[in-house]
Amino acid sequence: MRADLHVHSDASDGTDAPAEVMRRASRAGLDAVALTDHDTVAGLAEARRALPDNLTLVPGMELSCRLDGRSLHLLAYLFDPDYPELAEQTRRIRDDRVLRARAMVRRLADLGAAVTWDQVAAIAGTAVVGRPHIARAMAASGVVPTPADAFTSDWIADGGRAYVAKYALDSSRAIRLVRAAGGAPVLAHPRSAREGGRGGGWAVSDDQIAVLTAVGLAGIEVFHPDQSAPQRAGLVGLARDLGLVATGGSDDHGALTGHRIGSETTSADAYATLLAQATGAQPIRHE
Ligand SMILES: [Zn+2]
Ligand SMILES: [Zn+2]
Repeated sequence: MRADLHVHSDASDGTDAPAEVMRRASRAGLDAVALTDHDTVAGLAEARRALPDNLTLVPGMELSCRLDGRSLHLLAYLFDPDYPELAEQTRRIRDDRVLRARAMVRRLADLGAAVTWDQVAAIAGTAVVGRPHIARAMAASGVVPTPADAFTSDWIADGGRAYVAKYALDSSRAIRLVRAAGGAPVLAHPRSAREGGRGGGWAVSDDQIAVLTAVGLAGIEVFHPDQSAPQRAGLVGLARDLGLVATGGSDDHGALTGHRIGSETTSADAYATLLAQATGAQPIRHE
């Protein structure tokens, strides 16, 4: 049983269409894959149509949240996508992402960086616009050598000169909403230093995770490329102590992360325990 529960498509900031993501998941030998685009389930219909035989698709999303003033990602699985308050909140996050990206482009212009909104919009296409799209426009215009170089305090890292914060859901509220919609909420990469675009890395503390558990958190993402062996060991112990499911996922963004789908997985036990907690939607499979 090999399940990668954290993968992005070009419905958010991945580089590949959902159908291609499903093909790559199958080629990587996965039995199950969760599509977890940022704040949208727009890629789900295409993924479902393109789903290869013998691959189970777990509908999901990675929600933009805030905890004690910092940004935090919450993976949500098998929730009812039509649950009104959750649908409304994700719409609000997406709408705000556009306003926020436009504001960052204006700040970049004030700083003398030759990047236009049209460029960013063309790169994002129909995807939920995010900083990776701005970073690619900056690299294309020669403002920075590579997109990764845009994520510094000089530019668009958290707190950077051209950074603008986006609307995000309070973490406890998000967990309650996902539960109310029948889904299973899992804290994404709690010890990753990548949050907020490589600049403002921070670790969610054991105490903070305990508080989120009391609110209804189902699991924590332990097996993630940006978490070291000691960090994983600590999280495994914490999951055991708090009764949380320890999940794993590659956080594949296509070419952006070197096509690493299937490089991190969730154990069969953890997968079954997690799915048993969700009632808002069903895993999808073609026999
Ligand atoms: Zn994330
Ligand atoms: Zn992700």
